[in-house]
Amino acid sequence: MPSYTFQSLNLRAEIGGNSYALNLDGDQIILDAGMHPQEEGPDAIPRYREIPYDSADAIVITHSHLDHIGTLPIAQREQPSAVVYLTAACAALGEALLHNSVNVMSSQREELGIVEYPLFHHREIDYLQDRWSLCSYEKTFLLDPSDEKSSKLTFYDAGHILGSAGVLIEKDELSIFYTGDVHFGGHTLIKGAKFPDLDSPDLLIMETTRGADERPCDYTRRDQEERFAQSIRESLEAGGSALIPVFAIGKTQEVLTMLDNFKEEGLIPPHTPVFIGGLSTKMTMIYDRFADSSRRHRPGFEILRDMKLNTGDKRRRAPIECKPGAIYCLSSGMMSEKTTSNIFARRFLQNPCNSLLFVGYAEPSTPAGVIKAASTGDTIRLDGSHQIQLNCKVDEFDFSGHARREELLEFAVKSRPKKLLLVHGDPPATAWFRDKLAHALPETEIIIPQPGNKISF
Ligand SMILES: [Zn+2]
Ligand SMILES: [Zn+2]
Repeated sequence: MPSYTFQSLNLRAEIGGNSYALNLDGDQIILDAGMHPQEEGPDAIPRYREIPYDSADAIVITHSHLDHIGTLPIAQREQPSAVVYLTAACAALGEALLHNSVNVMSSQREELGIVEYPLFHHREIDYLQDRWSLCSYEKTFLLDPSDEKSSKLTFYDAGHILGSAGVLIEKDELSIFYTGDVHFGGHTLIKGAKFPDLDSPDLLIMETTRGADERPCDYTRRDQEERFAQSIRESLEAGGSALIPVFAIGKTQEVLTMLDNFKEEGLIPPHTPVFIGGLSTKMTMIYDRFADSSRRHRPGFEILRDMKLNTGDKRRRAPIECKPGAIYCLSSGMMSEKTTSNIFARRFLQNPCNSLLFVGYAEPSTPAGVIKAASTGDTIRLDGSHQIQLNCKVDEFDFSGHARREELLEFAVKSRPKKLLLVHGDPPATAWFRDKLAHALPETEIIIPQPGNKISF
């Protein structure tokens, strides 16, 4: 009897660091190889040891965010014969991210005393890339080209960040679709997902990030953009500047494109200097490299060339100076310790003319999360040695890179899967989907995969 199983390798059922294992009658496929962003050391690694050593045929990477690619070298170490499938843009961003991660872990080894760090090395990333195989969207390929009966894989544009993919896997009569992280509606720069019409797949593995987010029914992206532009304008007119903490991959490039649009539309003064720094510069160069070969709202637009951005003085490695009348898009988005946005905030938060503008999610325990929950005048601890009074204005905008929960609901209902696995969501998010879909899809078995459990289909 052929057997088909799914297993979550995650530490817990939450957003965390993503990795799942499919066994399709002997074809062993690992989906994503993430690192848990809030855990440290070995606790941040998925449970790869639950899959026998060197048994996997393939590791599929859906996109280059840390929670999907951050432990790929460790997964490859456990599965040396597996071929890693990913898009060319995902590979370019992922390579830069993994090298940066080695640097971050090496400095944390000293500061936090985590003896296991770094979990992998620069040279290891370089030689492991020999087994990376670059995939194009909507081009089906066989896991084993010499065996017609092996699993067939097709990547589809997931519209989440540059190079992101959802993956259709077909084996025998079965079909499985994994959404990865998805955005249907389109961003300012990157166009929305181009997923296939699924016809009752045997298994749909769907992200549920925003399941607990109730967005006001009168929300429009345009309103958010206008309010965002107005906040920036007000801080500039008050003689201050604007700090926008951003994730290096995705949010940085979306916000920069938005700023360029604002300048063209006269919503902010056209000569306002824009600074970027940290990992964002490197990632923006990669976005620009794929300007003509990815689906965009502004084809051919190259951010670094066309916006004449200030990227700081890299030769002197000097910290970026805080000047009035400028916009600073600095990573990291959660203002984590030692990152450019965190260090810059030391000189920024005390000035009441400045505005700190959040454009994405921040985990509550991170400095960005703490500031979001604070009030004017509160003292904020940015790291072990810097406590700063929060005097600047703080505002928040909704430019999520994930699909709205109603859109995912519609996608699931339209697809009519036989089994639906709710992943990449914290418990209130997966619970919302389970409740809604239990009514909308009475024939579908809905499961929130728990680590360790094997699900047969
Ligand atoms: Zn993502
Ligand atoms: Zn994710």
